[in-house]
Amino acid sequence: MKKIIIAIDGYSSTGKSTVAKQLADYLDYTYVDSGAMYRAVALFALQNNYISKNSFDQELFIKALPEIELDFKKENDNSKTNMFLNGVNVEKEIRSMYVSDFVSPVATLSEVRKKLVAIQHQMGVKKGIVMDGRDIGTIVFPEAELKIFMNADAEVRAMRRFNELKEKNQTITYDEILKNVQKRDLIDTTREDSPLIIANDAIELDNSETNKEDQFHIILQLAKDRIAGRI
Ligand code: C5P
Repeated sequence: MKKIIIAIDGYSSTGKSTVAKQLADYLDYTYVDSGAMYRAVALFALQNNYISKNSFDQELFIKALPEIELDFKKENDNSKTNMFLNGVNVEKEIRSMYVSDFVSPVATLSEVRKKLVAIQHQMGVKKGIVMDGRDIGTIVFPEAELKIFMNADAEVRAMRRFNELKEKNQTITYDEILKNVQKRDLIDTTREDSPLIIANDAIELDNSETNKEDQFHIILQLAKDRIAGRI
């Protein structure tokens, strides 16, 4: 059966990775969370003190970029894919608010984007891939057969994220999450290099009032149509 590339872009915490993973599992495609790669690079910048609350030594950080090695690996056959930074599993750390607060400034740098886009592009050479992020349908795979752009009200997104983190016993307030989501949206949409925009041929879905199952079935049908060459 023909394999395609599915690009899922959109605002922070719109459920991109959930639906991308569901699709990849169903279609037996590779799932790539491009945000995890930007998060791992931001973690590297934090660990090595290139960035902090009050400063960002961009020049030194850019010089150190060749030291960063990223891998998606499973710990064992049955486990889910984790992000590895220079051989260390950082999957849990990159999801913390500590990293979330710094990832968007790091992702504005063209040198960072160039490095990660090259890796991402390589991952799609054989197609059969679902990748989610901010520039997948515009920059990484402008030729993707299916492009989805996801949105939802910021308050709805923050509340979903808050409930998710509460379940994981993370102590964070709804207001902190809302602020982070809004700040990242602003930086991501206004940066000079590869801002978050809707590709001309993307299908926009607002899931403020749609549940996960319905949304998955809508996107799956679109994917099946594209695979069959119906649209
Ligand atoms: O998808 P996630 O929310 O984990 O992404 C974290 C951040 O990484 C985004 O807010 C954005 O700044 C950056 N990012 C990006 N381009 C991508 C994926 C993520 O700039 N393709």
